[in-house]
Amino acid sequence: MVRGVPLGLQEVVAARGKSCGWIEVICGSMFSGKTEELIRRLRRAQIAKQNVEIIKPAIDVRYSNDHIVSHNQQKIPSISAKDSSEIIDMVGDCEVVGIDEAQFFDNGLVDVCKKLAQMGKRVIVAGLDKDYRGVPFEPIPQLLCEAEYICKTVAICMECGNPANFTQRISASKERVLLGATDSYEARCRACFEPPDEK
Ligand code: ZN
Repeated sequence: MVRGVPLGLQEVVAARGKSCGWIEVICGSMFSGKTEELIRRLRRAQIAKQNVEIIKPAIDVRYSNDHIVSHNQQKIPSISAKDSSEIIDMVGDCEVVGIDEAQFFDNGLVDVCKKLAQMGKRVIVAGLDKDYRGVPFEPIPQLLCEAEYICKTVAICMECGNPANFTQRISASKERVLLGATDSYEARCRACFEPPDEK
């Protein structure tokens, strides 16, 4: 990190470092552009000819098995891991590791990310910070503590247009993990978010 450099430029400056790894977290509600931002950063690294490996949880096959895909259809090749313990072997000697949908991984992901950073890698993790009840979605809170850089992406409330920091489930399911997009979820602001009745 270089003192006095605006936050947006830190990643550019920091990406020149060779011996020091670090963790970046991109988090927010659904439809806030997390995967878009992850893809943007990974592409910048690829343009700089850095070796990039991209991991997603095997559970997430919504759009593709071997790519991460944003809601606006940008995509980048990825490999799937069943759980966090597989990740270290998967990434080999790459310089940059991208991890999407981190909330679907087990809590072991925190130690894996620390280890990768310790190995000198730039680790960029994207995920939902809260579940559909508005409750922190581990391991994202723990990763926020460990991260050098944090980017909170904000959607626009689909009810009223305010900044939206919550994911409203609009189907009746009570599973914590329910894969879906516009048919099951909406981005909502504080005022419009209605936590589910869990009684
Ligand atoms: Zn609203």
